[in-house]
Amino acid sequence: MRAAVLYSTVPPGTSYAESQPLVVQELSRPEPRAGELGVTITYSSLCHSDLSVVDGSRVRPLPMALGHEAVGRVAAVGEGVTDVAVGDHVVLVFVPSCGSCRACLAGRPALCHRAAEVNGSGDLLHGEALLRTPAGERINHHLGVSAFADYAVVARESVVVIDDDVPDTVAAMFGCAVLTGMGAVLNTADIREGQSIAVFGLGAVGLSAVMAAALAGASAVIAIDPNTAKHGLALKCGATAVGTPEDAGRLIAEAAGDGVDIAVEAVGSARVIASCLGHVTRGGAVVSVGLPHPTAELTVPALQFAGAGKRLLGSYMGDAVPDRDIPLYLGYWREGRLPVELLHTDTRPLAEINEGLDALAAGQVVRRLFQA
Ligand SMILES: [Zn+2]
Ligand SMILES: [Zn+2]
Repeated sequence: MRAAVLYSTVPPGTSYAESQPLVVQELSRPEPRAGELGVTITYSSLCHSDLSVVDGSRVRPLPMALGHEAVGRVAAVGEGVTDVAVGDHVVLVFVPSCGSCRACLAGRPALCHRAAEVNGSGDLLHGEALLRTPAGERINHHLGVSAFADYAVVARESVVVIDDDVPDTVAAMFGCAVLTGMGAVLNTADIREGQSIAVFGLGAVGLSAVMAAALAGASAVIAIDPNTAKHGLALKCGATAVGTPEDAGRLIAEAAGDGVDIAVEAVGSARVIASCLGHVTRGGAVVSVGLPHPTAELTVPALQFAGAGKRLLGSYMGDAVPDRDIPLYLGYWREGRLPVELLHTDTRPLAEINEGLDALAAGQVVRRLFQA
């Protein structure tokens, strides 16, 4: 099998096309163990959290085969898996929930304790890492998926089976961007029809949040990003107003008076999270979706919580229940109410993955898909 492996991080601000941090190489092809599946990856897509691993701001054990947003077909079924068959069309999910920890029992599989443990150590839910170089060196799995590859072995719990006829270029983006962005609005914020919302950061997650708000019947959807090239796309996704961070205060005042009901932070900046608390009205909620640097700290006026009833809500993978939400969102897409195609910028061969990192870092692409 072939996979893109990160051996050492490269700080932001350098050209990844030059430094080539991801090495596309041959690995020994593992067979699935009990509870696992072998999956032929058809498309994977490059997400900002891949970039955060490459630039060292999201610390992961190396070497690691990256990639966590993908679609494929089941190629092999491990012992004991009875509800998935060879040939099934599957979306990969980056939290393989165990079903029995506190979070899973509370109905919040996105926060699975066991998944957080194995994702952190580069192992799989049902056993230690399987990926090896031909010389036998261990390669860590990325979030149980490692999808910048032509093949992956994953836990049964890392896939959601979808209908055969969904185009792979659409399905590829449901496992991370769509699940995370839509879930932030529909699950975490639990938006009501007629509420106003502002979304900060118009990557694939932020744009998915915009689509979810439009779908839910928000009265105003204000989309903010310093990169004006993203603004047209946000309008197509359902934004009612677009602007740069300098425009945010004025646009919010025009559409929602003293503040929006919901602000979604999809940047990963403590400073933007703090500004979002200033942009929501009394009783409003800020949803923190972007991943700030692990050393970043948040300083905000403390009185606005008890004094104005504001809430600050963390949202990991959109508080999703993937087995429920992916079919639900695909249903919206099928009805023409969720234009996920808009997120797909272009498709390239896996050999150009490092150039993809540059394009994503520069904000030139929303979702670039890769074919191994
Ligand atoms: Zn992602
Ligand atoms: Zn669990």
